[in-house]
Amino acid sequence: MSIIIDKEKCRKCGKCTQVCPGSLIKKDEDGKAFIKYPKDCWGCCSCIKECQFDAIGLYLGADIGGMGSSMTVKSRDHFLDWNIHKTDGSTETIIIDKKESNKY
Ligand code: SF4
Ligand code: SF4
Repeated sequence: MSIIIDKEKCRKCGKCTQVCPGSLIKKDEDGKAFIKYPKDCWGCCSCIKECQFDAIGLYLGADIGGMGSSMTVKSRDHFLDWNIHKTDGSTETIIIDKKESNKY
């Protein structure tokens, strides 16, 4: 399991580097984030939830039925949008109401 960081979207805030419990994310010479040790990522999603710019995606590999798609999470008010970016270019969004999180 690993993550994908879209450098085009990265705003260099550094939050993902601070929250990764394994210190797996570093900054490159431009200050943009990259994952230095992808094989060590266990998919805790801390970095994905912290990034406010939709720049980090969780790679959904074949082992969990994702077949190469990825998921980003965007926070808006009390909702979380789970955006599944599929390999055919389409995006599917699952909306989670944080106020109703005990229902899930
Ligand atoms: S949290 Fe997002 S915007 Fe900030 S450094 Fe990490 S990838 Fe870039
Ligand atoms: S998903 Fe968790 S372990 Fe993987 S890079 Fe992000 S914060 Fe680190």
